[in-house]
Amino acid sequence: MTVIGIDDTDSRERGMCTTYLAARVAARVREEGGAVERQVLVRLNPAIEHKTRGNAALAIHTDLDVEGALGVARETVEALAVTDDPRTNPGVVVAPDGAISEPVIDFARRAVRERLTIDGARRLIGAWEYRHADWKESRGLIGALAAVGAWAAFDEWTCEYIAYREAHRRGTPREVDHESVFAAADWGYPTAWDTVDRDEGSSVCVPRAPGPILYGIRGDDPDVVRGVADRIESEPVERTGIFVTNQGTDAHLREGSVGELRDGRAYRVAGTVSTQPETRRGGHVFFSLEDGDASLACAAFEPTKRFRERVRALRVGDRLAVCGEVSDGTLKLEKFAVRDLVRTESAVPSCPDCGRSMESAGRDQGYRCRDCGTGRDGKIERAIERDLKPGWYEVPPCARRHIARPLVRGGFDAPIHPER
Ligand code: ATP
Repeated sequence: MTVIGIDDTDSRERGMCTTYLAARVAARVREEGGAVERQVLVRLNPAIEHKTRGNAALAIHTDLDVEGALGVARETVEALAVTDDPRTNPGVVVAPDGAISEPVIDFARRAVRERLTIDGARRLIGAWEYRHADWKESRGLIGALAAVGAWAAFDEWTCEYIAYREAHRRGTPREVDHESVFAAADWGYPTAWDTVDRDEGSSVCVPRAPGPILYGIRGDDPDVVRGVADRIESEPVERTGIFVTNQGTDAHLREGSVGELRDGRAYRVAGTVSTQPETRRGGHVFFSLEDGDASLACAAFEPTKRFRERVRALRVGDRLAVCGEVSDGTLKLEKFAVRDLVRTESAVPSCPDCGRSMESAGRDQGYRCRDCGTGRDGKIERAIERDLKPGWYEVPPCARRHIARPLVRGGFDAPIHPER
């Protein structure tokens, strides 16, 4: 198979979407008599500041020859990419059949977890004699090369079925019948996930940003995501595309230890809550996690909505595993696992006769009830009610990062408390 990688074609303000451009490339490939074996939508490191939104890159696996494939991709990028946005720097990489080498596979893996350079991409493109096209600063070559290596780099895949709007409607409010979306979401759940956010009452599958996507249905089975889409009533659809993707897989997370984390990477880290969670201006909730002498600030930001209640329910001494990206030394929580809960607290004893709180009888002299004269040597351990249980808690669908694994997909090392 020839593999066409494409990235960095859209604009935050002016729309477009690299998945749409890839769907158009796939259509052109078919017009040229080629077959499309698969379309890969790979989410790269979510911490990259150059991203427009979700740091997506696309690959099309086809039987078209390399020159034909490059021609089709180049023409489509020239026709559709928003190159007059200074932040849009497209790149296309085409690898011939059987030429996906180990260094390129490694590049794809690192693109999901680290920060890579345009020069690094150029070196590999040259070394393996891939064909390429690039525009302006050429930054898209990084994502395009990563997309080329992605299929061989990862072994866990989900799918997304995307419906695109007719050109003349883009930029106008999307006409989607939300009741049908909620009913379709119920039909497809849990094989199709993150279609809606029930608590927020929002159709997560319908984007708000300008651009060609009408809705995107994510899940584990192509027939089910298609079935969900079939049940949605909406404005006419220009075209649809089905992508295999690393969305919902946690491919961005690596194991880490408190005190040894780097900005721009995402981790799974174990530790003990060392400060009581505090809600700051804007509704963001912060607490510290410690491991030995090292400590890590963790944050649940306002957009994570009801997840913050779970975070506020934590207490000093709880043992956790936390997942998220580190930025400015703070881990932005995507999910956490309660490993061990503090279940008692030391408290001033109450009088067994009158029930009132005892008072200190002086230094090292225990506590005494002033009225009844009863006494105790020291504080007592009192059971505390906890709103949390052992296991994994997550942000709700409305706050999910594309690449983050929803709990309902399973594969976790403890009980799960999924949001839907
Ligand atoms: P789109 O919907 O167009 O794909 P996006 O949110 O995916 O939008 P891009 O416009 O593709 O964002 O911009 C991301 C840029 O960052 C691309 O140029 C890509 O090559 C580059 N990039 C992606 N991953 C990395 C990485 N790990 N290290 C360095 N640069 C990266």
